[in-house]
Amino acid sequence: MTVLVTNATLLPCTPDMEVIEGGYVRIEGETIAEIGAGEPPRIEGAEILDAGGDIVMPGMVNPHCHIAMSLFRGLGEDVDDRLYRYVLPMERKFVTPEMVRVGTALGTLELIEAGVTAVADMYYFETEVGRVLDRAGIRGVVGQTIADFDPPDHKTIDAGFALVDELVSEFSGHPRVTPSIAPHAPYSTDIAVMERVARFADDHPEVPVQIHLAEMDSEMEWCAKNHGLRPVEVVEKAGLLRKGLICAHCLHVSGSDIEKMAHAQVCVAHNARSNAKAGRGIAPVGAMRAAGIPVGIATDGPMSGNTLDLISQFAPVSMLQKLLGHSRKPMPGREVPAGGGEGAGHGRPHRLARARQAGGPDPYQPCGDTHAACLRSLCHAGLLGDAG
Ligand SMILES: [Zn+2]
Repeated sequence: MTVLVTNATLLPCTPDMEVIEGGYVRIEGETIAEIGAGEPPRIEGAEILDAGGDIVMPGMVNPHCHIAMSLFRGLGEDVDDRLYRYVLPMERKFVTPEMVRVGTALGTLELIEAGVTAVADMYYFETEVGRVLDRAGIRGVVGQTIADFDPPDHKTIDAGFALVDELVSEFSGHPRVTPSIAPHAPYSTDIAVMERVARFADDHPEVPVQIHLAEMDSEMEWCAKNHGLRPVEVVEKAGLLRKGLICAHCLHVSGSDIEKMAHAQVCVAHNARSNAKAGRGIAPVGAMRAAGIPVGIATDGPMSGNTLDLISQFAPVSMLQKLLGHSRKPMPGREVPAGGGEGAGHGRPHRLARARQAGGPDPYQPCGDTHAACLRSLCHAGLLGDAG
C-alpha cells in the first residue's frame, strides 16, 4: 500500500535543519520510501493525503514522563516539599490500575496531539501503561517504579520486582512497547535495592533502566549525609551508571559527574519547565551535551510540568540556558531539539494538528486548580494553526 503525503512543509530534522516547502512523502507499507520537493510521482492506487501546507516531520520523543498523572494536573500547585507532603499521600490513596489506565489514555491523547510518537514513562502499575500505549499505536519505554516509600503498587521490594517480571513477560519482544525498570531516585530507593536493580539489568540487557537523578538540593544533602557521596556517585556505587541509563533532571551535576556520565554512556532527560516551576535550578545542558551526553527534552509528568506539549518546552530550555550563561549566546533555538541522540526522530511522519484557540481551555484535561493550570499550561498561541 502506497501513501503519498503531498503539499507539505517538510522538516526532515537533518543536522542542517533543512526545510522543504511544497514537499511530498512517499510511504510504502510502514516505511518512508522517499521524500522530495515539488510534484510527487504518479502511482496507481496510491492514497493521497493533502497536508494543505502543514508541517510534516518525524514524530518526537518525550524521554521522561508520568503520563497517568494527567488526572492530577493542577493539584498541589506551589506546595513546598510537595513529593512527601502531597504527592505520595495522594497517590497511596488514589492510584489504582484503573486510575493509571484512564490517566494514561488521557495523557496519551495529549502526547499524540503534540506530535510525540515515543515516550519514556515511569509510574506504577506500568503494565497498564504498556497496554494503553500498545492500543494507541505509539512507542513507549514503560518503567515500573521500584521505591522504598511505600508506593501505591508494592508494599515490599520483592512485590515491586514481581511487577517488573509481569511487565517484562507481557511486553518482551513487543515491536513498540519496551519494558523498563525504574528505581525512583537515590534518596528514595535504598542502595541495596539499586544494586539488585543493577543485577537485574545485567541479566536483562534488553530492559532499560530509568531514574530521577541529581534533581533536588535535599537529594544532595541526603546523599552526602548517608553516603558521603554525590547522587551520581551513589548510582555509580550501586553499579547502575551504565550505557543507556535514562537519567531524569540532572541539575546538580559537577564537572566530574558529567565526565563519569559521559564515560558510562548514560542519557539525560531535561525537564526545564518542571524544574523551573519547582524552583530547583537550571541543568547544565550545554556542558552535558558538550561532553557527548545525549540530552533529550522532556515534559516530566503533567502534575509537575503542567503540560505534555513538548514544543512548549523548547523556548524555556533556550531561555533558561541563556540565564545560566548570562548571555544570549548559549543554546540557540535550533539547537534545542537537536541533542537527543539516537532514537529521536525515528517515528513515522506525524501531521501536527492544533485545534486549540489561543488562551482557550485544553480540551482533554481535568484540572484541580484552573487558574494555576491556565497560567502554566493552557495558554497556547496556536503556533501551527488549525490543521484539522
Ligand atoms: Zn519525573
